[in-house]
Amino acid sequence: MDKHRIILWVSILLLAGLFVVDALTGADAERKVRVIIDPGHGGQDSGSTYDGVEEKNLNLKIAQYLAEELEKRGVSYKLTREDDTFVSLSDRANIANQYDGDVFISIHHNAIKNAASANGTETLYFPSKDKMLLLSGEELAQIVQNQLVSQLGTRDRGTVARSNLAVIRKTNMAACIAEIGYLSNSNERGQMVSESFQRAAAKALADAIQEALTIIDTKEP
Ligand SMILES: [Zn+2]
Repeated sequence: MDKHRIILWVSILLLAGLFVVDALTGADAERKVRVIIDPGHGGQDSGSTYDGVEEKNLNLKIAQYLAEELEKRGVSYKLTREDDTFVSLSDRANIANQYDGDVFISIHHNAIKNAASANGTETLYFPSKDKMLLLSGEELAQIVQNQLVSQLGTRDRGTVARSNLAVIRKTNMAACIAEIGYLSNSNERGQMVSESFQRAAAKALADAIQEALTIIDTKEP
C-alpha cells in the first residue's frame, strides 16, 4: 500500500469512529435519567429478617412498583439492582453518579431488637452544604417523608441527618433513604407484606419525586 492509500484509510476509520461516538452521546442525551431508584440490600445481604420476611424483597417490590409508576408518568429512571443480586454500596453510588440522576431514593425497611412496639416511617439524608444542588438532600427527605406519612398513614418519625451512610454521602445529587416502616413490628410487618401497601408506598414515592423534580426544574437556570 502506498502512503496516500494508508492516509486515506486512516481518515475513513477516524471519521467512522467520530460518527459512532456522536451516535452514542446523542442516544444518551435523549435518555437522560432523572431518578435513581436504589432497592436496599440484595443477594447474600438480606437486610433484616423477621418471621421469614426478608427486607431485601420488600425493598425490591416497592422499587419495581415505583418504576412502573414512573414509567406511566413518563419520568426516566435507573434501578441500581433489578433483581435479587448483591450490589455494593459504592457501586450503587457509582451507578447514580454515572447516570447523573437529579434525585436518588434508596428504599429500606427499619428494624430494632427488643423494642417490638417501635413503628413508623423515617427518611434519612446526608447533612452537607458542599453539594451545590438546586434541591438539598434535606429538602428531598422532607418531601419524601411528608408524602409517605400522609399517604400510608404511618407514624411520622421525621427526617434524620446521617453522615455515615455511603449511598447518600457519595451520590452527587439530592439523595435520601426512605425507611418505610418497621419489620420488627408485627402489626406493621403484616401491612408491609401486602401488595396494596407496597403499591401505595410506590405511589407516594412517585408523587414525592414529581414534586422534587418540579422544584429542580423551576430553579434550573
Ligand atoms: Zn436496610
